[in-house]
Amino acid sequence: MSLPENDFKPGLDLLKSPILPLVRLAQLLYLTGPFDRVEELLAELHEPLETATISYENPGNELKPYLAPLKTIESLKFPREENRVIRDETGAPVAPLEALDAWIAQEILTMELETINSLLCRPCGCMLCCIGPDGELSQEYFEIPLDAAETSLFDLPVLDTPSSRSSTPEDEPPFAPTGRPFYREPSGLYHWQSGWSLVLPRGTSCPALTAGTGSCRIYPERPLVCRRPQIFPYMLERLPKRDPQAPMDLTPEYTLRRKILAVWDCPYVKRFQDQITRYAELCEMEILFRENKA
Ligand code: SF4
Ligand code: SF4
Repeated sequence: MSLPENDFKPGLDLLKSPILPLVRLAQLLYLTGPFDRVEELLAELHEPLETATISYENPGNELKPYLAPLKTIESLKFPREENRVIRDETGAPVAPLEALDAWIAQEILTMELETINSLLCRPCGCMLCCIGPDGELSQEYFEIPLDAAETSLFDLPVLDTPSSRSSTPEDEPPFAPTGRPFYREPSGLYHWQSGWSLVLPRGTSCPALTAGTGSCRIYPERPLVCRRPQIFPYMLERLPKRDPQAPMDLTPEYTLRRKILAVWDCPYVKRFQDQITRYAELCEMEILFRENKA
C-alpha cells in the first residue's frame, strides 16, 4: 500500500489518543465525587485534562458520545442486579468493580474502533472483506455473520431448515443440503445453530459489492460485522450458551481477556502495526495480531 500517510490521518489521530484512559479517569472522578449521575460530572469537565501521555482539550464533550456505556458505572452507587457473569481465565468470578470496568471498556472500544476502522479502511480501496477466497487461499468459503434482520439486505437464496439450524459450518462431514457441501453451492444466507451468516464460496463476492469501483451499495445500512473490521476489542469473550437450544441466555457469561485483536491480512493493520500496538498499550491491553484468511 503506497498511499500517502496523510490519507489516513483522521484514523491515525484517533489511534494516538484513545478515549479509554479518559474514561477511566472519569470513572474515578465519578466514584470519588459528589455526583449521582454521570451527566453531572461531564458538565464539570470543560477544562483540559491530561493523563500520563494524552491531553484532552474538552473532556466533557469528548466523552459525550460514550455516555450510554459510561452510565453503567452508576450501578456502583445505585446497585442493581447484574444479569451477566465475568470470570477470569481460571474461571473465578472477577470483583464487581473490575467486571464493570471491563464491561464499559469493551463497549467503549467497540464504538471507538468502529470509527477508527472505517477511517483506515476507506482510503485503502481494498475489497478483501467482501469477497470469497481466491485461488491462493486454502479456505473453501468465507462467512459474514448476520443478525436475522440483516438478512433482508441481501437478495440471495435462503437456507433455513431444521437441518441447517442443527448444523454448524465447521461440521464434518460438511452440511450438504443438496448432496454436496454447502460451500459448493452459490452464495447464500444460512440459518445455522449459532445464527445467520452470508456464505461466500471460493471465487464469489458479496452481492452488495459494486464490481469495478469496489464500493458497497448498502454502505449506510451495511451489517454490523462489516463496520468493525479489522481491529477488534477482545476485552471479554462471550462463552457459549449453557443451553444451545434456548432462544437466549438470561445470564450470559464472559471470560476476561484484556486484549485487542488485529487481523494481519488487512493492509492497514500491516502498515500501521506500531500505531495499533501503541493504541493497545495506552488502553492497558495486550495486542494480538493474527492471520484470518490464510
Ligand atoms: S455488505 Fe458491503 S461492506 Fe459488507 S461485505 Fe457486502 S459489500 Fe462488503
Ligand atoms: S481487509 Fe482491511 S482494508 Fe481490506 S476491506 Fe477489510 S478492513 Fe478494509
